Amino acid sequence: MSKRLIIFPRMGNSWISFKTYIKNIGDIPIIPRPLNKRVLELGVKYSPEGICFPFKVLLGQYLDLFERLNLGKERKVYIISLGGYGPCRFGYYNALHEKILKDLGYKNFEIITVEGIDHPFYRGFPKFIKMIGKLFGFHPPWRIIKGFINAGYKLYFIDKLEKLAYKIMPREINRGETLNTLNKALTILDKAPYNNLRKIKEAYEEGVEMLKRITIDKKKEVIKVGLVGEAYMLMDYDNNREIEKKLAYLGVEVDRSLRTSTWASDRIIFVKKHKEHMMKIIKPYLNCFIGGDGQESVMNTILYKEKGYDGVVHVLPFGCLPEIVAKEILAKVSRDIDMPVLSISLDEQTGEAGLITRLEAFVDLLRERKYKQKEVLV
Ligand code: SF4
Repeated sequence: MSKRLIIFPRMGNSWISFKTYIKNIGDIPIIPRPLNKRVLELGVKYSPEGICFPFKVLLGQYLDLFERLNLGKERKVYIISLGGYGPCRFGYYNALHEKILKDLGYKNFEIITVEGIDHPFYRGFPKFIKMIGKLFGFHPPWRIIKGFINAGYKLYFIDKLEKLAYKIMPREINRGETLNTLNKALTILDKAPYNNLRKIKEAYEEGVEMLKRITIDKKKEVIKVGLVGEAYMLMDYDNNREIEKKLAYLGVEVDRSLRTSTWASDRIIFVKKHKEHMMKIIKPYLNCFIGGDGQESVMNTILYKEKGYDGVVHVLPFGCLPEIVAKEILAKVSRDIDMPVLSISLDEQTGEAGLITRLEAFVDLLRERKYKQKEVLV
């Protein structure tokens, strides 16, 4: 059987794990370029006016690949994309992307939508089996299992390396050293043989050692901020304008509430359990499901308060309905639990200088609050 060409949308560093899975099953991974001028241009040009920012980015990624690699016409390509979750536009993304691409003359492609089983179970099950068949192709089961294990570990290690790096970054002595080291560690992880779990683990350990060797100011007092908001904006540093890095350089230790591995676990594997847990926490503020990641934004803000964080930055794409609702609710949550929240709406028009100014002002406010709280305690 000939090898399939498979595209998976670029989302932060998770492409490393995706590449591993596709190679394990014997197909050919195609990695979109990081968000750049051309990708954005294509996405904005062919997307419906007023659609949310992530839609434009994804469309731009597909079109950029189709154009550069001559795909979707003579050469068939598969796109693996995540499916909708609740009442938001995400549920229409794949159908709409497909229509736009076909209208532009690309007919030789197929979008495989990855999603959990709808309830009731018996109704969602046939659709789920069909999706699994397309996702795995006609590959031997041992390759699929091995692919999942190796890719799953890489995803887990990517998250761990990023978490460690963003803990170190606000304390680094030499500006930029942590980011350079993180990128090197991720390259080592990417280059680790896709089919050898022992080597993948060794690559991760090497990355951890490299990060731990960075010289830091151990006594530096940092502010702790939680990052909440729409998933695609949170998980991709290009989409969110490297907000974690910007905050780290302002002396902030940032914790991102959503990572690709947690997304997969909450939205595909343990959907029911996750929803029940979340709805219980947010009940005083929201007793219905608003879709997207709006309810997660509210839940995580409450959880960050419980964990002793100093503030929350809420990142939303311009025009995102669930996050606009969440923004309104967060204003009340913020007052009730005494937790400063800064909501930042981003799209292709967002200016860099304005964004930095807002973050600086927020961090100053948090520092001031922390200082006053300490004074009261003394
Ligand atoms: S969560 Fe918001 S940005 Fe994401 S697809 Fe839904 S409406 Fe669009």
